[in-house]
Amino acid sequence: MSGRNVAMILETCLRDEIISKCCEAIEANKSVLTKLDQAIGDGDHGVNMSRGFEAMKKAYEENREQDYSKLCQTLGLALVMNVGGASGPLFGSMVLGFGTASPDFPRTREDVRKIFSAGIDAVKQRGKSDVGAKTMLDVLVPVCEALGRDAITFDEVRGCAAQALGNTKDMLATKGRSAFLRERSVGHLDPGAQSSCLLINAVCDAVEHCNER
Ligand code: ADP
Ligand code: MG
Repeated sequence: MSGRNVAMILETCLRDEIISKCCEAIEANKSVLTKLDQAIGDGDHGVNMSRGFEAMKKAYEENREQDYSKLCQTLGLALVMNVGGASGPLFGSMVLGFGTASPDFPRTREDVRKIFSAGIDAVKQRGKSDVGAKTMLDVLVPVCEALGRDAITFDEVRGCAAQALGNTKDMLATKGRSAFLRERSVGHLDPGAQSSCLLINAVCDAVEHCNER
């Protein structure tokens, strides 16, 4: 078997596992996401994410043979078209950004950091927002920065995401629907930050699981 084949098998295993773990995490936490969005939004985040990730999984199963870049385009569009709300175009743009950042599936921590950073830039652009506005970016950005550290462990990545999520509780929302609540947005976790934390954990689980096999 050539080295390229081994790499392709590994890539497929990782892709399968990442998609499946992300969908499982969203489905298992649908009501958590709904409750958070009921507190500071309109209560649809759980349903939005569940519908969108289900559609993304179906798109993946139908297009498994696509190369990395094309696949990101397929999956990003599936999210944009099926999640809905504000978060659909944002998570969708992030995945589209992963695909334009590199023609190949990431192999090293630095590859992952680069494509993640490009995905985050796409979210910032689409949402006209940045860190500090009590959104998904308040989890995504610190985790991406943590990926810049040599020898970071999966548990440290998970810890960073959990801490960043916790920090959204005391923040005042200045973007998205929760910004209408002004001071009343304080005291609640941000739903999009919670789903970002779930997705980061799911990706860590998937990569660790594949490594063990
Ligand atoms: P909607 O707010 O339209 O009902 P969702 O409930 O699905 O959509 O998603 C809400 C989440 O989207 C928020 O918790 C926040 O994390 C994220 N969000 C909203 N607006 C922005 C923005 N401009 N930039 C980044 N993230 C945002
Ligand atoms: Mg909502």
